[in-house]
Amino acid sequence: MSKKVAVISAVGITAVAIFLIIAANLGWIGSGNAETTTTAAVPQTITEITTSSTTTTTTTTKSTISTTKSDKPTKVMDPFDGTGRIVYLTFDDGPGKYTDQLLTILKKYNVKATFFVTNQFPAYQNCIAREAAEGHTVAIHTYSHNYKTVYSSTEGYWKDVNKMNDIIQKQTGKKSNLIRFPGGASNTVSRRYSDGIMTKLSKQVEEKGYYYTDWSVDSRDAENKSTESIVKNVVYGMKHNEVSVVLQHDIKKNTIDAMEQIIKWGLKNGYTFKAMTPGVDMVHQKINN
Ligand code: ZN
Repeated sequence: MSKKVAVISAVGITAVAIFLIIAANLGWIGSGNAETTTTAAVPQTITEITTSSTTTTTTTTKSTISTTKSDKPTKVMDPFDGTGRIVYLTFDDGPGKYTDQLLTILKKYNVKATFFVTNQFPAYQNCIAREAAEGHTVAIHTYSHNYKTVYSSTEGYWKDVNKMNDIIQKQTGKKSNLIRFPGGASNTVSRRYSDGIMTKLSKQVEEKGYYYTDWSVDSRDAENKSTESIVKNVVYGMKHNEVSVVLQHDIKKNTIDAMEQIIKWGLKNGYTFKAMTPGVDMVHQKINN
């Protein structure tokens, strides 16, 4: 070893030693585990946890969130990790002229959905048979979807529901025991026709052996939003819920046009699209009448 190399080595060793001393004083060395221990030992609220980015804390946060209500959006989930997260795409008010096109899209991606059907467009009744045959859940939304008819009396409601269920049986071979109220259980329009009817109906549904579900994610397609806006609303909802029950309408063209983008995004990020099972993951909004 030449003298020059030896001098450089000595300088190098000294530099490393100085660095180690500074690092130890600054807490860069030997405090890695201590930091994790401190984090775990200090009681934290969910809000506090959102500011942390360590893997350990994220895991803790997820288990905390899962014990809370799924319809409460939180900002702590990894939006791009859909692993173990479920999306129920639901379509109300059909079948109609776009239903066949929607079924073809769902088939292309092998995605199952749920249809809350009506008889508003009788020419498309046979789509109900296709929905069932392709593995989707067929559920009841009412025959007429006329608020006056279905919300003037409980008798009127059940008469209308039974009429729809007869069509469902004719098309699929069996009746459905899953319901979604027109306007949702929380609607206040029904008060115009009968005071307290939603309170009565939501009880009767269960007494008669049916289940009802509202939604936790609103695509807002009923407000005739653009395709881009529908995609944005649904994806936002999926990112913020462990279980998403998505409200859409298969009688809206913009909704059909939004489906491929929503499905592709969901599948790419590990989300699972499922058809609803009566009694499982039912969403109940607050009843206001
Ligand atoms: Zn509806």
